[in-house]
Amino acid sequence: SLNSETQTTASTCCYCGVGCGVLIEHDGERILGVQGDPAHPANFGRLCSKGSTLHLTGDIDARALYPELRLAKGLARARTDWSTALDHAASRFAETIREYGPDSVAFYISGQLLTEDYYAFNKLARALVGTHNIDSNSRLCMSSAVVGYKRSLGVDAPPCSYEDLEQSDCVLIAGSNMAFAHPILFRRLEAAKAQRPDMRVIVIDPRRTDTCDLADLHLAIRPGTDVALFHGILHILIQEGWVARRFIAEHTEGFEALETQAADSTPEAVAELCGITESDLRCCAEWIGKSPTFLSLWCMGLNQSTAGSAKNSALINLHLATGMIGRPGCGPFSLTGQPNAMGGRETGSLANLLPGHREAGNAEHRAEVAQYWGVDSLPVRPGLTAIELFEAVRDGRIKALWIACTNPAQSLPDQLKIHEALAACPFVVVQEAFFTTETCRYADLLLPAASWGEKEGTVTNSERRVSHVRRAVPAPAEARPDWAIVCDFAQRLESQLRPGLPSLFDFDNAEALFEEYKQLTSGRDLDLTGIDYALLDNQGPQQWPLPVGATQGTPRLYVDGRFPTASSRARFVADAYCAPQEPRDDRYPLTLNTGRLRDQWHGMSRTGTAARLFGHVEQAMLSLHPDELHQRGLQDGQLVRVTSRRASLILPVQSDDAIQPGEAFLPMHWGDRFLKGLGCNVLTLPAFDPLSKQPELKHAAVAIEEA
Ligand code: SF4
Repeated sequence: SLNSETQTTASTCCYCGVGCGVLIEHDGERILGVQGDPAHPANFGRLCSKGSTLHLTGDIDARALYPELRLAKGLARARTDWSTALDHAASRFAETIREYGPDSVAFYISGQLLTEDYYAFNKLARALVGTHNIDSNSRLCMSSAVVGYKRSLGVDAPPCSYEDLEQSDCVLIAGSNMAFAHPILFRRLEAAKAQRPDMRVIVIDPRRTDTCDLADLHLAIRPGTDVALFHGILHILIQEGWVARRFIAEHTEGFEALETQAADSTPEAVAELCGITESDLRCCAEWIGKSPTFLSLWCMGLNQSTAGSAKNSALINLHLATGMIGRPGCGPFSLTGQPNAMGGRETGSLANLLPGHREAGNAEHRAEVAQYWGVDSLPVRPGLTAIELFEAVRDGRIKALWIACTNPAQSLPDQLKIHEALAACPFVVVQEAFFTTETCRYADLLLPAASWGEKEGTVTNSERRVSHVRRAVPAPAEARPDWAIVCDFAQRLESQLRPGLPSLFDFDNAEALFEEYKQLTSGRDLDLTGIDYALLDNQGPQQWPLPVGATQGTPRLYVDGRFPTASSRARFVADAYCAPQEPRDDRYPLTLNTGRLRDQWHGMSRTGTAARLFGHVEQAMLSLHPDELHQRGLQDGQLVRVTSRRASLILPVQSDDAIQPGEAFLPMHWGDRFLKGLGCNVLTLPAFDPLSKQPELKHAAVAIEEA
């Protein structure tokens, strides 16, 4: 219960990319409660089941509290002090770099870090160590959207605002169960549709999810056929004269090639391929083509695919063809999975990027960043992306690995191979708030990190809005903020790698990191130079770009029809449809889809500590269409063995007619701690998109039998 001692600190929710504002209630030592922040423009005071239970999830018994070190594999880790821990880590990294070169070490970080944490890691890897081997779990989340935006529009910038949800007449939701994954935005959409019942909502998803409750039209396409569907819609738009010829002529390039390609995507052929009716396909195209405004929302169903980049561009094509971009209620709008995947992209926290939306493969960009950091140069050799990086760990090329705020032993595909890699890596550092994750098992050095409510910094949500994340209480025991751990380690490594030179990591607080970082965005598309902590405190969260001198942020991009490409025109992308990597066959006759539940987050390190959050779904179950159970003589609740080409998993089955025959669904959250035999990713395959390198976590062929 709250009393007169209770204080309130405004911050943000640490789960999804909606980025809701929260008010943390505390007594200066302990967090006592949480409320939605009525002043935050993402949620106006609302919170979903996950956000409203944040204060119940900090279970101290699950927290990493002290640095722990082991000097040889097979030994148990023992408690140590910070100085010993970081000196040891610096020596191990320095020895490895001296003996095998800078690319023998790697950093695997997280979309849940704060912008300042990301920046410190980037500077550490690229400026001090001299490697681009720094990738993040955003590779599993948004990297296909990054490629989609860059190829089609020039830069990685979602052009819309949440208020477009309230202003659109036709909203297409593709590959997203936003009712579960982005609940507060879904509530906003529900409210908008209640207010304006003429608003059309189209949902594209192989499953009939809770999001479909709002749909006027649900296209339950065959898994992975999205590109064919979007080309089919474009075919009808062209055929019916529903394309914006003037916008295309004045503001785009490449339409002819796409038009030629779309000519083959006849409604008959596309309906057949996608497993939908031609009339539904035509209805979808007509609603888009005749609507005065058109907004599309998407998430992992498009991104986590070997055709993820093509799916993103094919959807953006529809906006360019209809001119539905840069206006209220219009535009392609990716829903960011993690709370600060955007900040990661901004600071260059994917192997192929550099801070300020720069490219690691661009010599001019490398020179700009090197000069700003005061180092001679940045490496030319490309860095390894998530799947490649763990392959390199497994085959011995990476000999020292630093993992922060993420659980690759559960979240990467072909999970057993990841466990092999981690077991074989000579030196693994895990920087974590919760010691209960699968990955911590492999840590030679475990570094306790501060968590939600215990650290300060900034995050950017899906609509480019930067919020100030504030610290309410001290971190427990010896846990420290991520940026502070990185800078402390970096200074020790500097004394070995560049002795006598001034430190690159002389930061007293998170704000100092932000102030240095933001100058790297000066003149770039995401210019943040007009933002500082005081502005965020006084005027609230702001949408970039907000350059120095501007009085407020930018709600909508491309309003003048000019795009940040060489020609100032947006680009149509004419990718052909490619089937998913692993088709089903007689031996593996079902397509496995994976996804989120309403009340759990990622690998449950946090949500798994609150009993209340198991009220919605108590345990992991494999969902199958009733006919599939019947054919196999299976009963609801019976244990089954699910087998893919990689491994098997035993768990109960449940009948669910929201799943199409021939398909299966598994929630992604359960790992070793809750499910004997690890999690859904023992089954998934490590194939990835050739451009975004994002793995195909939503499509694997499996077989089911009684266990
Ligand atoms: Fe947190 Fe996302 Fe729920 Fe908002 S919608 S409260 S950010 S989990």
